[in-house]
Amino acid sequence: MPTLNMSAADKDFAVVAMVPGDAEGMTYFLGRQSCDTRALEGHDEDLGNAHYAGQEVLVYFDNVFIPHEHVFMDGEYAFAQELVARFTQYHRASYICKTGLGDVLVGAAASLAEDNGVAQASHVKDKLVEMVHLNETIAACSQASAHAAHVFPSGTAINDAMLANVCKQNVTRFPYEISRLAQDLAGGLMVTMPGAADFAHEDHGPLLKRLLQGKVGVPVDNRRRMLRLVENMTLGRNAVGYLTESMHGAGSPQAQRIQIQRGMQIENKKWLARKLAGIVQE
Ligand SMILES: Cc1cc2nc3c(=O)[nH]c(=O)nc-3n(C[C@H](O)[C@H](O)[C@H](O)COP(=O)(O)OP(=O)(O)OC[C@H]3O[C@@H](n4cnc5c(N)ncnc54)[C@H](O)[C@@H]3O)c2cc1C
Repeated sequence: MPTLNMSAADKDFAVVAMVPGDAEGMTYFLGRQSCDTRALEGHDEDLGNAHYAGQEVLVYFDNVFIPHEHVFMDGEYAFAQELVARFTQYHRASYICKTGLGDVLVGAAASLAEDNGVAQASHVKDKLVEMVHLNETIAACSQASAHAAHVFPSGTAINDAMLANVCKQNVTRFPYEISRLAQDLAGGLMVTMPGAADFAHEDHGPLLKRLLQGKVGVPVDNRRRMLRLVENMTLGRNAVGYLTESMHGAGSPQAQRIQIQRGMQIENKKWLARKLAGIVQE
């Protein structure tokens, strides 16, 4: 679909259509991800996320046939900007999905603080509070955007544009800060820890388990898995979805700032200030 404002010169590119994922003429190029070959090594302890992984692809369309009933825009360039604005309005509020990942990272950081025997330290508690505060701020913007929805005469509802863009702008920043705090609480072992093959080694395994024992009573294997989860979400395969997609998905940060500027009603805000200051009377 169009990704920006268009003119008559762009008419041929003002197209939106729907195709089945296996339509003839489509080629998918799999994206490489950090640490992706760990999935082929046969040790789920080093995966971080022992159950799931996401995958991105580059899609090439070569003469793909699209029936007319699947075409939603065919050269109507004058509607391109409004179409992309409405699409991103929904999409940018839907980034509340990242708060589910944030919940996992808060839980991982809290678990590691326990495993490291420092859960009661005041700075640890404060960092967990900060992580939750940032995460819930994202959720609040998304939910507020939905609550402030406008219903068109057609019956279609659309969420609030300003709050959707503020939501996504926060998403371009807060997961990075949440990740920073998780790495702080995890400790450097999350990137220096030997691999599962060493832990499985007849001689080295028992030595490593003795050296890397944290709080008494917490199995080293649990600590290892949790450290790998933080690595996975902030540096590994799932950082694709938690960090870089948070930055660029539904448009890079500047795209939201443009929409915030368009909707921020600065003249009205100036009038409010001038009225209170006694500069204008009406
Ligand atoms: C993990 C991931 C998943 C994604 N999933 C989807 C998906 O499911 N569906 C989908 O449609 N898209 C998806 N996207 C694509 C996403 O919408 C784009 O990445 C995003 O719009 C930014 O475009 P770009 O990557 O080409 O970066 P660019 O547009 O090249 O941006 C790079 C930098 O250049 C700046 N810039 C760009 N143009 C200008 C300009 N004209 N003037 C000044 N500065 C400029 C930007 O602000 C930014 O700082 C995904 C992206 C990622 C990373």
